[in-house]
Amino acid sequence: MANVQTAVEKNEYYEVTFEDLTHDGAGVAKIEGFPIFVPNALPDEKAKIKVVKLKKGYGFGRLVELYEKSPFRVDAPCPVYKECGGCQLQHVSYEGQLMAKQKQVKEVMARIGHLPHVKVHPVLGMENPWRYRNKAQVPVGEVEGGLVAGFYQQRSHEIIDMEACLIQQEKNDAVIQSVKRICEKYGVRAFDEKKHKGNLRHVMARYGLVTGEIMVVLITRTEELPHKTKIIEELTKEIPAIKSIVQNINNKRTNVIFGDKTNVIWGEEYIYDSIGDIKFAISARSFYQVNPEQTKVLYDQALKYANLTGEESVIDAYCGIGTISLFLAQKAKKVFGVEIVPEAIEDAKRNATLNGIENVEFAVGEAETVIPEWYKQGNEADVLVVDPPRKGCDEALLQTILDMKPKRVVYVSCNPATLARDLRILEDGGYETMEIQPVDMFPHTTHVECVAQIHLK
Ligand code: SAH
Repeated sequence: MANVQTAVEKNEYYEVTFEDLTHDGAGVAKIEGFPIFVPNALPDEKAKIKVVKLKKGYGFGRLVELYEKSPFRVDAPCPVYKECGGCQLQHVSYEGQLMAKQKQVKEVMARIGHLPHVKVHPVLGMENPWRYRNKAQVPVGEVEGGLVAGFYQQRSHEIIDMEACLIQQEKNDAVIQSVKRICEKYGVRAFDEKKHKGNLRHVMARYGLVTGEIMVVLITRTEELPHKTKIIEELTKEIPAIKSIVQNINNKRTNVIFGDKTNVIWGEEYIYDSIGDIKFAISARSFYQVNPEQTKVLYDQALKYANLTGEESVIDAYCGIGTISLFLAQKAKKVFGVEIVPEAIEDAKRNATLNGIENVEFAVGEAETVIPEWYKQGNEADVLVVDPPRKGCDEALLQTILDMKPKRVVYVSCNPATLARDLRILEDGGYETMEIQPVDMFPHTTHVECVAQIHLK
């Protein structure tokens, strides 16, 4: 049946030229002005497509035959690229990925932020954009009596076994292979979510890029793990860089990976890593940036935009484990960090002590509640840094910024759309966006991080 607003029909074939790439990596073609989104297609490519789904103002298609390829198209090197879904842009050359991300940020600034003239720099990418993730977290299952560990096939709960993930540190891949083999040898059963039986649910491996230290976390349904001592002995012998083995117990019927109980079963409670000059203690449940090399690039840029002389009072909103706060504290008079997760603030305080940094204070609470209170008490900042989650800053926080009038705001963002929305509010309230630096924290995925420099007019 034809869609009321268009001549485009479901299950029909069309010849199209792609014009654009969506923020989630699909190609966009227009059939008589009607947009169709097609996975795995790139701008400027000519192709035959089949329309598979129609919605009110747009539709979805499938690539049937590619007539003309984009100069940026490459063969995805990962053998499970399509099944996994963890990466979306491996079929684009790295240069092409960086260009697409810059274009995306520019477009969103114009469309949502009404900031078509703001300077968006070329994306800062990685010299070697592979094997960058320091944390692997994989579900464990059973196939024909043997353990498998890898990823859930897209739109299903079937676990596909994986020997290597090309964006993952090789050391983490090795840990997962060893855990799988040793646990199988000692008769550990994988968790069966349907029957709520078996034991091993997930394996997490974390690698300190600078220190080389490894933490392994076994997430199990019950506390008892058969041949625990033997498993530990073989694992640590096989991979001497392991400094910590932790068991987390999750007996719930849930997709949430971690349970409430965490026991260190061998070695240390923490592994350590450094970003720049700052050292971090990372526990099994700590948040820690997954690409520390690019985190340094991102936070150096934030520090540059903060333009500190040593005299400033700085607020770091949404501070997490205090990564940015500790960076800033080296150059500021005083830094106040705010974060909603109490455990993250405990980590932040521990990390401040670990580094002998004393001019920083951390508070637990909502940024949009705590910062207005500080403002009421006369605690103002010269520079305000925000690094909110994907949904962006709360309006109450933006209003407090407009009232408090810090000279500079540095906005670190993982979602260009909410960044653009919030920049518009700041612009309307008397601020000017000077420039935006995108940084590629997650090569081969569609994610892009940005740092914006914002000045009081
Ligand atoms: N800069 C941090 C990471 C920021 S990620 C680092 O490098 O470690 C965003 C953080 O905002 C998360 O830690 C999340 O827990 C926190 N958060 C989410 N909503 C919040 C709110 N309303 N107020 C304060 N923090 C919040």
